[in-house]
Amino acid sequence: MEFSQSVQHLIRENEPLAPLTWLQVGGASRFYAEPCSLEELRCLVADAQRLGIPFRLLGDGSNILVRDAGCDGLVINLSSAELSSITVTENKLICGSGARLSHAISHAVGAGLAGIEYLAGIPGTIGGAVVGNAGVKNCDFGSRVTRVRIIDSEGLTSDLERSSLQFGFRHGNLDGTVVVEVEIGLEPTAREELTRRMQAAWIVQRAAQPPSGTRGVQAFVDPDGASIAEVLEEAALKGYTEGPVALSSEFPGFLVVNGVASSDQVLALIGKVTQSVHARTGIQLQPQLRIW
Ligand SMILES: Cc1cc2nc3c(=O)[nH]c(=O)nc-3n(C[C@H](O)[C@H](O)[C@H](O)COP(=O)(O)OP(=O)(O)OC[C@H]3O[C@@H](n4cnc5c(N)ncnc54)[C@H](O)[C@@H]3O)c2cc1C
Repeated sequence: MEFSQSVQHLIRENEPLAPLTWLQVGGASRFYAEPCSLEELRCLVADAQRLGIPFRLLGDGSNILVRDAGCDGLVINLSSAELSSITVTENKLICGSGARLSHAISHAVGAGLAGIEYLAGIPGTIGGAVVGNAGVKNCDFGSRVTRVRIIDSEGLTSDLERSSLQFGFRHGNLDGTVVVEVEIGLEPTAREELTRRMQAAWIVQRAAQPPSGTRGVQAFVDPDGASIAEVLEEAALKGYTEGPVALSSEFPGFLVVNGVASSDQVLALIGKVTQSVHARTGIQLQPQLRIW
């Protein structure tokens, strides 16, 4: 497998992916790279296309379950400084897709710009947030996005303007693209007020999440008109446990892993919960977690 000389030094083989995800389960990636620049990223994408290697983009791994067999392709991690920059221009924030959502929020609040402070406490990167349209009740990331820069299969960049972007509840039309930059449109507002909103959102969000260090994720999307917590309660599945995998009883909606677990065990629990909820309530749960 011959990657271009300019990126060969970046390629690692059989890289374990579990430590790079919140659930910390699953296998390795056949190829793995952390490009340091846009040029290297372009080259990796073009190489993968030329060599017929499937590739995936990794953000913070807070919404990914890697299968035990791992990924037979190239995983590209965009966490380098150049791909994670954040700049403020007038009423806009321009973020590299590897930037953390929390850093983008702090920059916006510091610049007195309102619109994303309500998302404080959601883990992950700008890339993950725009692809999955991360959000909280009544506020989603997509509604603030004014432009997205992507790289096509030949490694060329192009801009998707607002009119060609679609965002729904925890999804959008950017799946399968390579997002490198996101422009966020915001409104000038007093910094003190924004700090207050950001802190309030963070406290509410963190109080609903398992404590730091817990291997917990949101496995399902809230079904139409209901919260996943209510649905699990109604189906008497709160706290449902199989071996090392459980639905948290303390933090409704979170799937948690304790000790040694396989990806198959996580998938088995997700499958059983989906079936039981359907049988008991008629609701068809949709996964939030991306299965790799
Ligand atoms: C404790 C906890 C609390 C959470 N709370 C919320 C919440 O309140 N609201 C909410 O919406 N979500 C929530 N989530 C889910 C998760 O935080 C979001 O989905 C987040 O936006 C994922 O970002 P990430 O960088 O971790 O993406 P990853 O998990 O790394 O990736 C998710 C998907 O995005 C793709 N992707 C990532 N970067 C790029 C890129 N640059 N270009 C193209 N594709 C890309 C990946 O390929 C993958 O398909 C929570 C998760 C946890 C663990």
